[in-house]
Amino acid sequence: MKRKSGQNPDITKNWKPATLAIRGGTARSEWGETSEALFLTSGYSYDRAEDAAARFAGEQQGMTYSRLQNPTVEMLEQRIALLEGAEACRATATGMAAMTAALLCQLSAGDHVVAAKAAFGSCRWLTDSLLPKFGIETTTVDGRDVGAWESAIRPNTKVFFFETPANPTMDIVDLAAVCGLARAHGITSVVDNAFATPSLQRPMNFGADVVAYSATKMMDGQGRVLAGAVCGTEEWITGTLLPFHRNTGPTLAPFNAWVVLKGLETLDLRIRRQSENALKVAAFLEGRVAKVLYPGLESHPQHGLAMTQMAMAGPIFSLYVGGGRAEAHGLLNGLELVDISNNIGDSRSLMTHPASTTHYGMAEEARLEIGVTEDMLRLNVGLEDPDDVIADLDKALASIGR
Ligand SMILES: *Cc1c(COP(=O)(O)O)cnc(C)c1O
Repeated sequence: MKRKSGQNPDITKNWKPATLAIRGGTARSEWGETSEALFLTSGYSYDRAEDAAARFAGEQQGMTYSRLQNPTVEMLEQRIALLEGAEACRATATGMAAMTAALLCQLSAGDHVVAAKAAFGSCRWLTDSLLPKFGIETTTVDGRDVGAWESAIRPNTKVFFFETPANPTMDIVDLAAVCGLARAHGITSVVDNAFATPSLQRPMNFGADVVAYSATKMMDGQGRVLAGAVCGTEEWITGTLLPFHRNTGPTLAPFNAWVVLKGLETLDLRIRRQSENALKVAAFLEGRVAKVLYPGLESHPQHGLAMTQMAMAGPIFSLYVGGGRAEAHGLLNGLELVDISNNIGDSRSLMTHPASTTHYGMAEEARLEIGVTEDMLRLNVGLEDPDDVIADLDKALASIGR
């Protein structure tokens, strides 16, 4: 039936990513609407009491309550799974809800987790503060060093957790090597793929078990809603994630799911253009500041590795202006077009000072260890004309004598 072709695996298996981004997961209602319908409903009704009983018993297909299922959210989950090349996906209210659920659903007291040191501030809080409170031991390693992952393995290691590229140091983790190591030891690898998205990098092609997202970033892509997603095998999602997800309720609201569905339609276009723009802006900055960390530049120490696992390097990079906080804040204050904002993945160019914002909660020692210094800035390059972004940066740099 054409109305549900986006949810029919016999049909979707022949579609390429650009088609999946527009049509994957779509199931039309009886009205045949072209754009996905927004189902703002918390509950569902049944024709007969026996139908309600059959649905709760899992004997009849259908929805029972929007903490568990919703048609709009389900369209988003299917679209993300198809783009990721994953068997299944569950959406969450935020990226952090996705990371928390992906970890807690499979861990118990006495287990051990190895995580990369360079990570989004709240992801570090999960490994440094939350998991140990529940008796789960964690070790953080330099994610770039495959040997460090291997040495950290203990008999009770259950999970490897990392992002690549990492926020904000742009460290690259060797997906094939680290996920392969996890597989060989019966460890589940959980990859936070927020920076690259399935348009630029599909970790499962390199052996990742679970891929988790902040869909707030590139997937919405226009700075409107918070959302997250967790992808895995059907067995893992149903058997491991769902009991946690259904009963603790980090569910995504249908309206936010609908906004992200619309965002996914243009994800590939946006992320490719933003990656091109970022490369131009990064090349300009390279001549003007102490250091630029962008995997798309040959000067990045892991440029070669990055380009074997990513199609393009993405919209985000970091730079060291030289000096300290005064210079970094001075540059931010000199900007007129680029906004001072800690968000990323937006179609607008945004810049932040990680040490005093996104990574403020991290101990200073830990910050310095991963390279989040006082003169570091992180830039998300948007869809504006890159020449305008460069002119704005040029003026702001001149204002601090660079
Ligand atoms: C933003 C971000 C998160 C958290 O996502 P939210 O949607 O803000 O909860 C997690 N990981 C990375 C790499 C991020 O950039």
